[in-house]
Amino acid sequence: MSSVSKGHTCEALVLMCIDFRFRENVQENLKAKGIKSYDIMAFPGASLGLSSDSNPAQKPLLNAITISKNLHNIQRVVIVDHEDCGAYGGSSNFVSLDEEKAEHREKMILAARAVKAEVDLPIETWLARLDGTLEAL
Ligand SMILES: [Zn+2]
Repeated sequence: MSSVSKGHTCEALVLMCIDFRFRENVQENLKAKGIKSYDIMAFPGASLGLSSDSNPAQKPLLNAITISKNLHNIQRVVIVDHEDCGAYGGSSNFVSLDEEKAEHREKMILAARAVKAEVDLPIETWLARLDGTLEAL
C-alpha cells in the first residue's frame, strides 16, 4: 500500500464521464501532459451535466468545483468527454466522427462558460478517443 501525500493542494480538477473504458487512458494521458495531481469528478457525459442550467446536475457540479478550488487550490479545470459516450447516444447517434466532435465541442463551450462564471479559472476541454489518445476540442 502506498502512502498518501500530506500536501493538500493539487494542480487541477478533472471532470470526466463515468465510463470505465476510458479511466486508465485518460489518467495516463493527463500525466503525460504534465498534470500529475488533480481532483477527479465523474458524471455521465461529463460536459453534459454542466452545459445547461436546466440540467438539475449543473448546480451540484459547479458547487463541487468550487469546493475543489477552495480546499485544494486548483489552478485549472479539465473537462474530458469521450468518443462513443452513451450519455450522448453513442457514436451511432452521429453520421460521422466530425459530427460527433462538433456536438461535444458545442456542449464543452457551454460547460466551460458555466465553469468560468463560477470559478474564473483556465479551462481545458479534451475528447478521449477510442484509440486511447486525448484530443483537444
Ligand atoms: Zn460517457
